[in-house]
Amino acid sequence: MPVTYDVIVVGLGAMGSATACHSARRGMRVLGLDRFSPPHALGSSHGETRIIREAYFEHPVYVPMVQRAYELWSDLEKESGITLLRETGGVMIGRPDSDLVKGARHSAELHGLRHEMLPAGEVRARFPALHPESDMVAVWEPRAGVLFPDACITAQLAQARRHGAELHYEEPMLRWEVAGDDIRVLTAQGDYRSRQLIVTAGVWISVLFPELPLCIERQVLFWFDSRSGSELFAPECCPVHLWQFDGRRFFYGFPDFGDGVKVAFHHGGDMTTVETMRRAVGDGEVQEIRSAMRRFLPAADGTLRMTAVCMYTNTPDEHFWIDRYPRNPQVLIASACSGHGFKFSSVIGEVLADLAQCKRPRFDLSLFSGR
Ligand SMILES: Cc1cc2nc3c(=O)[nH]c(=O)nc-3n(C[C@H](O)[C@H](O)[C@H](O)COP(=O)(O)OP(=O)(O)OC[C@H]3O[C@@H](n4cnc5c(N)ncnc54)[C@H](O)[C@@H]3O)c2cc1C
Repeated sequence: MPVTYDVIVVGLGAMGSATACHSARRGMRVLGLDRFSPPHALGSSHGETRIIREAYFEHPVYVPMVQRAYELWSDLEKESGITLLRETGGVMIGRPDSDLVKGARHSAELHGLRHEMLPAGEVRARFPALHPESDMVAVWEPRAGVLFPDACITAQLAQARRHGAELHYEEPMLRWEVAGDDIRVLTAQGDYRSRQLIVTAGVWISVLFPELPLCIERQVLFWFDSRSGSELFAPECCPVHLWQFDGRRFFYGFPDFGDGVKVAFHHGGDMTTVETMRRAVGDGEVQEIRSAMRRFLPAADGTLRMTAVCMYTNTPDEHFWIDRYPRNPQVLIASACSGHGFKFSSVIGEVLADLAQCKRPRFDLSLFSGR
C-alpha cells in the first residue's frame, strides 16, 4: 500500500523548504521531495545573497507580505540560532520618473514606511561607493538588507524535519495522477499518496507544467575585488543598491561580505530552458557589467573573483504565480517569482500551508492567481 500524507511538497528550495516547515509545524503529515540535495547551486536560490526590501516598487500589494516575511525570518533566526538576515539599508536609484523610484516612493508613502528621498549629491556623500548621475535621485529605506539563502533554506528544512516532515533528497517526482480522492506521486523509489500536492519546483515547473505561460531567463552574477580596499563596500558603509538606467535597464549590488562586491543586471538575460542553459560566462558579459560598474560603482572595478549563473522563472507580467492548477484544485503551484521571490519565500510557505488547509490566506493574492 502506498504511504499517505496530508501534503506532498515537490521541490525543497526557497519556497518548498518554507512550505514543508509551515505545514509540518501545524501538525500536517508532510512528505518533501527534491531532485537534488538542497540547498544547491543548480536552480534559482544560490549565489550567497538575496536582497530584501520593503518599499516595493513592483506593486504596493507586496508590502504587507514582505512585512510578514520579515517577521517569519526573524522567528526562524531565533529558532535556528543562525544569522539569516542583515539589515544594511537600501537605495533605489534612478530618474525621478523611473518605475523604480516612482514605484518605491509610492509604496513607501501608501504604507507609511520609513524612507527618505535623496538627491544624487546626498547619495554620494552618505555612501561614497555609489556614484549616481546628477539627474538621478534615490529612495533610501532603512529596513532593506541581505538574506543568506543557503542558511535560510537549511534552517527551514531543519525546522520541517524537527516538526516531523519526511524529506527525501535525490528523489525527483516523475509524475503525478489522480487516485480516487487523493493525488498519487511516483518517483523511482516510491509510490505516495496525499490529499494535496504542492509543486514548488522552481524552474522545473516549466517542465512539469509546460502549458503554463512561464519563461526561463539566464542571469549572471559577478563578484569583483574593489580597487580601493574594502572599506567603502563594508556592510556598515554600503547599503544594498538597485539602479534603473537608460530607460528600462536594471543593475544591482551588495556590500562586500568578504567574498568581493557582488553585482548583476536584473533581467536582460537570454531566454533559455532548464536543460540547455549555458553555464559558461563570456568575456562580453564581463565587459558589459564592468561598464555599468565604471559608471555607477567605480571603486568596485577591480579583479573579477568569480561568477555564477542562475535562472529566473518569469510570468508575463513579472508578478508571482501562486495558484491552484486549473485542471485539478488539489494541486497547488507556487513559484515563478520573476527574479524577486526569495525574500517572500518564508511568507509564501505560510500562505501555501493555509491553502493546503483550505484556510483563507491573510493576503490579497489576486495579482498572483487566476491568470
Ligand atoms: C540571479 C538571481 C538573483 C536573484 N535575486 C533576488 C533578490 O535579490 N531578492 C529576491 O527576493 N529574489 C531574488 N531572486 C529570486 C529568487 O531567488 C527566486 O525567486 C527563488 O529563489 C526561487 O525559489 P524556488 O523555491 O521557486 O526555486 P528553487 O530554490 O530553485 O527550488 C526548486 C527546487 O525544486 C527541485 N525540483 C525540481 N524538479 C523537481 C522534481 N521533479 N521533483 C522534486 N524536486 C524537484 C529542485 O531541485 C530545487 O531544489 C533572484 C534569482 C536569481 C536567479
